[in-house]
Amino acid sequence: MVIGQTERAIRNYEKSQELNPDNTNAVDKLRELRGDLDAWAIFGRYSCGGMGWVYSCSVCYADNRHLEHSMPLALHQVPRFSGKQAARIASDLFGIEASARELPSDRDQNFCLTVESGEQFVLKIANSSERREVIDAQNKAMEYIAGNDPSLRCPRVRHTKTDEQIATISGRQGDEHFVRLLTRLPGTLLAESRAHDPDLLRSLGRFLGQLDRALDGFSHPGARRDLEWDLRHASSVVRGYLELIPLGKRRTLVERFLVQFESEVAPALPELRRSVIHNDANDYNVLVDGCRSDRGSAIGIIDFGDMVETHTVFEPVVAAAYAILDSPALLASATHLVSGYHESHPLTELESELIYDLIVMRLCTSVAIASHQVRENPVNEYLVISQRAAWATLEQLTRVDQNEARAELRRAVGGRSGSLVRPPRTTEELLQARVRQLGGSVRVAYDQPLKIVRGWMQYLYDESGRAYLDAVNNVCHVGHCHPKVVRAAQRQIAMLNTNTRYLHDNLASYAERLCATLPEPLNVCYFVCSGSEANELALRLARTHTDRSDVVVVEGAYHGNTSSLVDISPYKHSGPGGSGPPPHVHQVSMPDRYRGLYKDDESAGEAFASHVKDAIERARKRNRAIAAFFCESLLSCGGQIVLPKNYLRTAYEHVREAGGLCIADEVQVGFGRVGTHFWGFETQGVIPDIVTLGKPIGNGHPLAAVITSPEIAESFDNGMEYFNTFGGNPVSCAVGLAVLDVIEEERLQDNARIVGARLEHGLERLMRRHDVIGDVRGLGLFLGVELVHDRTTLEPAADVASDVVERMKACGILVGADGSLRNVLKIKPPMVFSEADADFLVERLDKVLRESASSA
Ligand code: PMP
Repeated sequence: MVIGQTERAIRNYEKSQELNPDNTNAVDKLRELRGDLDAWAIFGRYSCGGMGWVYSCSVCYADNRHLEHSMPLALHQVPRFSGKQAARIASDLFGIEASARELPSDRDQNFCLTVESGEQFVLKIANSSERREVIDAQNKAMEYIAGNDPSLRCPRVRHTKTDEQIATISGRQGDEHFVRLLTRLPGTLLAESRAHDPDLLRSLGRFLGQLDRALDGFSHPGARRDLEWDLRHASSVVRGYLELIPLGKRRTLVERFLVQFESEVAPALPELRRSVIHNDANDYNVLVDGCRSDRGSAIGIIDFGDMVETHTVFEPVVAAAYAILDSPALLASATHLVSGYHESHPLTELESELIYDLIVMRLCTSVAIASHQVRENPVNEYLVISQRAAWATLEQLTRVDQNEARAELRRAVGGRSGSLVRPPRTTEELLQARVRQLGGSVRVAYDQPLKIVRGWMQYLYDESGRAYLDAVNNVCHVGHCHPKVVRAAQRQIAMLNTNTRYLHDNLASYAERLCATLPEPLNVCYFVCSGSEANELALRLARTHTDRSDVVVVEGAYHGNTSSLVDISPYKHSGPGGSGPPPHVHQVSMPDRYRGLYKDDESAGEAFASHVKDAIERARKRNRAIAAFFCESLLSCGGQIVLPKNYLRTAYEHVREAGGLCIADEVQVGFGRVGTHFWGFETQGVIPDIVTLGKPIGNGHPLAAVITSPEIAESFDNGMEYFNTFGGNPVSCAVGLAVLDVIEEERLQDNARIVGARLEHGLERLMRRHDVIGDVRGLGLFLGVELVHDRTTLEPAADVASDVVERMKACGILVGADGSLRNVLKIKPPMVFSEADADFLVERLDKVLRESASSA
């Protein structure tokens, strides 16, 4: 907040306190509710709404936004006149003799007055907190409409005997209320009519378009206000109240729409045209001619209380958001309304492009504000009931193909069905550009490559909006685009991003949090940006600490893409294009009980580990000494292999006996994926000397880490500075912290254990049915299905594996094939994978294996 504004805010705040000492409580309460310590209340007022007594105040935030907030508090500034008093006021001020009947009202008092001739009026007594300017704006708008388009029906203002539009009366406590007299429109409320009738909705759209045309050019200071219900503020309003929605599916759903809105729609808002709009065409504010049995058409509108100068398109958006509630065909209802609007007040291309997302956001705003109201007034059942339809509609919308929905609304207004953003290139064009710009060694998956444009939790969406269940990306550990992680990154990147040469809370906190997940003495952390960098640094640490250079690695292992890591990665140096292991690298056989040497041996772990001892011995004979033994805690690229019991324990003994260090590569398998433990090495009952972390650590953000003991760190501190420009920057640390939070809050390790077990059982059932499945193995949500042509010879079925991967993709499920023989289906989904997802995967794999067998 700039100085002048701060001062003004403080002055206003103090003034409002003088006027009303309760303000202090209200502001403190607001801060407590929203956690916005840098928010200042500008002025406060009380009113009586559907949720009881409400304190509303306009708040100025640090970033200069001003928003009006409502907080129900037990306060007392609302008109409370009897029908008799209302009739007297009508007579005294307006010279009208009539009987008065009170009408339901949100925040004011409204009376229906009937004179002897049967003519009716509405006497509106405003809440004493109402600003005159706002009421005046409403009056002037109604006059303006009448002047511009007399065919439109909206209430007319009756003047007082002294020719004023607004009179003032005193309430019981001496507070002042503005009073107006309006004509009462004949007609039936839309709520009492066939609200989902296509013709009626179209006519409502046309009516609103006509209304906005008539309002075009209208301007009034009272319309330039900041309302929670103005969609311009949707993002901050929904974000502000998000935490009041109980954690669970509903909150996640709103967050999903919010993130999408913030990234794709909000940036375009300033380009939308503006005007004063009614902003509240709900079923109780719209009048239709005809009744329930008859179709009718919209003929009038009342209650200009939410009128505001904002983006014009919000008018049909708000109406459409109401129209789709409880609608048997929600998209169709929205389409009828929007196309009607477009007929009388054409939408621009950008408006028609954004309208679907805006409708969704309006519903999100509505449930978010309601959650706030419910929290303040939990006994008000009406609030809960009234939001049921909005929640149900939002839930339905999650099942709608969003691109199709957008296109349908665009078509409704005769727009192009393509996107307004630069027309996307075809798959073929993109492929060619890749090869040209990136070189052929950067490969894509699948025969027909996928163009993925959006991710959400365990789903990926292609450009056509088709959803794929992601069963292979373990990087987006807590779910693609998890809002908590996204938000952490957004917040920090907007604040500061530097390097480890400065002190920063995030760096210290993250190192502490991360180390706390590891056993002693692993409590020194180095932050890097990729798994390769982590292993590269681990190698340096080991070499510096031992003053040796040789490495023992497992066949088929992959540890990274740098020169020294390709050297220690048989998966690469012994594969296509590789030139074999250099002399300092010693390979040991893969501890694979399915295909390896010691199939039925109870002590296979120890037997496989003896190869490590042999390798060290062979090296020693050639005068070479081992700096480190690199091994993943479960073998990933090697073929999703669970190490046999005691393998690491025995191998580590051999390595340590020879003076080497034991490095656990947890880049693929860490962070709770194995279900029973947080780290894969824990399932082997060992404590490594160095642990390397990557992939899931940042949920997709380039973050990785090396953790070791103080002793090894001390050897590394030999005078040469270790500096990493990006490693450990405040943004990465914020992301890392958020990932740890989510794993804990959403109990994802437990989920991996439970869902993983169900999935594994399902796959085992398939193994009984399909001979091609030779083995099913894994821990938690890290599973492998090895395919063979012959269960005796174990002839690898790499051809079937790649066919299955393609067919699964066609069914909407992404899995991969890996292992030295490329015949192992790898399953390692985001940790939010559900039991239903597991069942779906098994069911589809069953079908795919049947198809694949019959087409072979
Ligand atoms: N270690 C293992 C076990 C891996 O699987 C990988 C990547 N697949 C790496 C290290 C290297 O990580 P990055 O690609 O982030 O450099």
